[in-house]
Amino acid sequence: MNFENIEIFDSVKRPVLIAGPCSAESEEQVMAVASALKEKGVALFRAGVWKPRTRPGCFEGVGQEALQWLQRVKSELGMYVSTEVATAVHVEQALAAGIDLLWIGARTTANPFAVQEIADALRGVDVPVLVKNPVNPDVDLWIGAFERLYNAGVKRLGAIHRGFSAYGEKFYRNAPQWQLPIEFRRRMGDIAMICDPSHIGGKRELVLSLSQQALDLNFDGLMIETHCNPVCALSDARQQVTPDELEIIMSKLVRRSAESDNVDFQSYRNRLDEIDDKLMELLVQRMAVSREIGAVKREKGLTVFQPFRYNKTIERYTKYCKDGKIDIEAVKSIFEAVHSESIRQQLRVVNEGNE
Ligand code: PEP
Ligand code: MN
Repeated sequence: MNFENIEIFDSVKRPVLIAGPCSAESEEQVMAVASALKEKGVALFRAGVWKPRTRPGCFEGVGQEALQWLQRVKSELGMYVSTEVATAVHVEQALAAGIDLLWIGARTTANPFAVQEIADALRGVDVPVLVKNPVNPDVDLWIGAFERLYNAGVKRLGAIHRGFSAYGEKFYRNAPQWQLPIEFRRRMGDIAMICDPSHIGGKRELVLSLSQQALDLNFDGLMIETHCNPVCALSDARQQVTPDELEIIMSKLVRRSAESDNVDFQSYRNRLDEIDDKLMELLVQRMAVSREIGAVKREKGLTVFQPFRYNKTIERYTKYCKDGKIDIEAVKSIFEAVHSESIRQQLRVVNEGNE
């Protein structure tokens, strides 16, 4: 896929900032937030007109009527306006109202029928579309949505990382799982990637640190929910910031350069390569020992998985995690990977000749 730059973004300085309320609640509320943002130099306004809510009975957006308020923002304040679409009817109405940029919400990206319906409704229309990651951590499903849009002729595409829902997650509303947007980018190449710290954090206190992490990971921009009176917001009250708070957040963000041409990393990289070579050799040796154990388990008729032993391994390594030298969660995932390869090898050994 060959993505075209989103022109709107080209004319807006980086990092791109999309700000506005979770939902368009009333004409006054929309105009008040938009004017305050305009004053602070925000060029791209967001507001949800149709709101997909997890449970019925919550505020589900004003609907079509709110599009006129976005039109006012566009004509009176000269801002670009964006909203979420989830059906062909939404697309039709948003386009008829002259909305500059559409986004597909996380619940919609997870549904290929809905994405296809939107893609079909966009055939022959040149409008930029941002696709939020699906609620579940599935990079293929996210990429699939891009393919559906691209195949329908929509070439001005960008991605929004808004985190992934997880059972029992307490700290984040939607866990960032940064490795997923990184994997997405690795596979999709040069595509605009916006971070939505509001829906990841679910709390306004987390917006700054999540935004900083996104910039440190070379994201192209941020989408931050902003409301003049967040506590009274009809949706996502806990995570919205005021225009003044947004200004403070933006001023605190440290911007780093992705260009490394004038820095020589070669000697460091050579040292890393040397260590990685050793790690690989050791892993290969470790797998050979695992296969030997597999042979013993086969002979004695033992199961391959011995949970007691695995928990002991993790315990042994907590001592390396003092003073932040390496994070215990990282150690766990490294050993989960090593252990799962070990198990795969042993399963082969114990079943040799049985297939
Ligand atoms: C939103 O942007 O207000 C929204 C509903 O987000 P998400 O699709 O990420 O839940
Ligand atoms: Mn929201």
